[in-house]
Amino acid sequence: MASPEIDALADALARLPGLGPRSARRAVLHLIKRRETTLVPLLRALEAVSEKLSLCHICGNVDTVDPCGVCADPRRDAKSLCVVEEVADLWALDRTRLFPGRFHVLGGRLSALDGVRPEDLTIDRLVARVGDGGIDEIVLATNATLEGQTTAHYIAERLEAMPVRVTRLAHGLPVGGELDYLDEGTLAQALRARRPIE
Ligand code: ZN
Repeated sequence: MASPEIDALADALARLPGLGPRSARRAVLHLIKRRETTLVPLLRALEAVSEKLSLCHICGNVDTVDPCGVCADPRRDAKSLCVVEEVADLWALDRTRLFPGRFHVLGGRLSALDGVRPEDLTIDRLVARVGDGGIDEIVLATNATLEGQTTAHYIAERLEAMPVRVTRLAHGLPVGGELDYLDEGTLAQALRARRPIE
């Protein structure tokens, strides 16, 4: 019914999280109807991000500059570091604006089931960052899943002999809660009530 180009656009949009084939087609129609105000700006934005996209070599955040905006911000407290599983978690926590420090993205969680080992994550790089000195507190903000907890405990063990305070987000959440899906009030509460890891 539609041209191959329009079909390809709908297929590409349908692969985005939260969009199925139906909403992808509705989005395509919207883009076509409002070409100048939606399609053209979207195209420009996609091009700009796609050209400049890079991983921050310090924290693992995704940004269009390296070091990323968070690492380069001089107003951030360099003494405090929040460890998260994924970039989405970093963004979710940063939206609360309640964590004054910097971040470290692990790139996942330890998982015997999926064969994810410590060397598959950026744990060595985290230990090296702490070893470089200047960091007083590590806040482990891995998810409240079994794998997230296992990862937090493993990291706490690796940091045990180092002169750094290791705390854990107070979730008070159902197990399996993923940071990115929490509302900002809940996240803020979890951050304020952080406690030493046992
Ligand atoms: Zn960074």
